[in-house]
Amino acid sequence: MDPIRVTIWNEFVHERNHAEVGRIYPEGIHGAIASALRAFPEFRLRTATLREPEHGLTKDVLEETDVLTWWGHAAHEEVEDAVAARVQHRVIEGMGLVVLHSGHLSKPFRRLMGTSCHLCWREAGERERVWVINPGHPIARGIDRFIELENSECYGEPFGVPAPDEQVFISWFEGGEVFRSGNCWVRGSGRIFYFSPGHETYPIYHNPLIQRVIANAIHWARPRGSRADVPRHVPVEQAREKILSRGPQLHTTEGALQ
Ligand code: ZN
Repeated sequence: MDPIRVTIWNEFVHERNHAEVGRIYPEGIHGAIASALRAFPEFRLRTATLREPEHGLTKDVLEETDVLTWWGHAAHEEVEDAVAARVQHRVIEGMGLVVLHSGHLSKPFRRLMGTSCHLCWREAGERERVWVINPGHPIARGIDRFIELENSECYGEPFGVPAPDEQVFISWFEGGEVFRSGNCWVRGSGRIFYFSPGHETYPIYHNPLIQRVIANAIHWARPRGSRADVPRHVPVEQAREKILSRGPQLHTTEGALQ
């Protein structure tokens, strides 16, 4: 199999501003995810963070990325619109996107969903049980009936996203809420997976089962087939079957309105 080129993007703000988060993730959340994914030799990994020029997501980097993972929370608004648009465009072209935890309010995800992406939440360190509801799905491979997280942030319904094309996980929280915690969408030629566990004050990205889901999601989201359709004018003489041109024509042969 060809290597999968993965870019792990992290805002990298909490780890530097909060001692507790820095203690759990001394290399940053991106560093923790990268070191877990090093166990998978098929991944060619790089990381990028908010404070780098163009947030580390230059045109060249995105061109060389098969799957982008995204973790952000405190600084969504600091992401430049041009970079968010570039990510959106690359997804439509076929780049995979794995959006983690509070990335639900990131600019790229909201652009791709076209909805509020709001949810309800509570930070109480309660138990979360991430139920596999689609055991045949490749993102659930290697996961038994559920993943149990002793301490988690509650994310609850209603989740303001378009109906997912496929659902893989639903979470139950100790306080009673449920949440669509693992969802798939396709936009253009690109595959998007949202996975909610991952609050920064709990060591969730050190959990091997969570790491496995992220690795599975990268496999699932890798580009396949050709890039998205592009506009193309097919003149009458190039039609597959011979036809005669009839009726008025509003367009030039280049497709521009006259
Ligand atoms: Zn959180």
